[in-house]
Amino acid sequence: MSFETLIEQDSVEVRGRLLTWFDESHRDLPWRHTSDPYAIWISEVMLQQTQVSRVVIYFERFLNEFPTLEALAAAPLDNVLKLWEGLGYYSRARNLHRAAQVIVQNLDGKFPQTAQELQNLPGFGSYTAAAVASIAFGESVATVDGNVWRVLTRLACFSGTRNHLQTRKQVLRLAQNLLDQHHPGNFNQAMMELGATLCRPRNPACTDCPVSEFCGAFRSGTPEQWPQSAPKTYKPVIKAACGILKTGDSFLVVQRPLEGLLGGLWEFPGARCHDQETLEAACLRGIQQKTGLHARVANPLTVVHHTFSHFRVELSAFICHIEEESIPSGRGTWVTLQELDQLALTRTMRKIIPFLTFSSQM
Ligand code: SF4
Repeated sequence: MSFETLIEQDSVEVRGRLLTWFDESHRDLPWRHTSDPYAIWISEVMLQQTQVSRVVIYFERFLNEFPTLEALAAAPLDNVLKLWEGLGYYSRARNLHRAAQVIVQNLDGKFPQTAQELQNLPGFGSYTAAAVASIAFGESVATVDGNVWRVLTRLACFSGTRNHLQTRKQVLRLAQNLLDQHHPGNFNQAMMELGATLCRPRNPACTDCPVSEFCGAFRSGTPEQWPQSAPKTYKPVIKAACGILKTGDSFLVVQRPLEGLLGGLWEFPGARCHDQETLEAACLRGIQQKTGLHARVANPLTVVHHTFSHFRVELSAFICHIEEESIPSGRGTWVTLQELDQLALTRTMRKIIPFLTFSSQM
């Protein structure tokens, strides 16, 4: 179906069918039982890059712990990060916390109601702002996440990837033209739901789709060829090393700087390996830089791996001992295994913990 035909002739029918389908078939998810903008905002942020089944668990835990905007704003960041642990993309949690504080302190606790105003808050990109404004406040503004992008590019057989400005403009224009002005929140959710449940990247369920009659990709017989995607980029492997230092029952951990990757999370002290540097040397350099302590490597403990969006990490953990003449700097925190479990740790570090319990070399 051409872009013009969809907009000029079929938009009313497409809109109606999508809304009816959503009304009858939507999944029963906890954030669909509330009109509280705060709860809707939390769900939309959690849903970015994360599967619905995981979000359900985190969403309910988060709302139990921080039931209101005020409760979130007043909480220590460490507590917020701890609840977020395992969900990834931790800047989302830091931005949620900062935005809650801005609303409480600068806006008298009043949640902004338009997408334009929401975009002034930390962490609100155009997608999140449009989703919250349309679902919580009924603003007529279309959302285009990855699922909606797939549906629209298939409906209109748009060529070009998300990096193409012209394609982005076309998709946004189609999204805004199809949007139901009277039920923008439900319409946006219908588009997202269609992308998540029927119009899947692989094996789309076109025969069950309420708008297959209007879909160019379905008519082509090969719907999976849309959307076009940019060629996959190679993920470099970063080698790093960290040291496990133990005194009595306690282990030494340090907190990452608040800004930057995994900001505010806790880890065993260490460093990324420089060219030509051995893993052991990187480990001892990291301990010295982050805690001021001089140490020596006693034994290798384990090697763990973790994949981030643009690179992979291979982290070697070593059991280390503090040199006797080393003067404690007071940097870093000594915690027992139980206390370690209460901290917000990076996922890579958490993979090391089972080896601490079972190692006889400590
Ligand atoms: Fe997606 Fe198929 Fe529906 Fe087209 S007909 S929107 S490809 S599920």
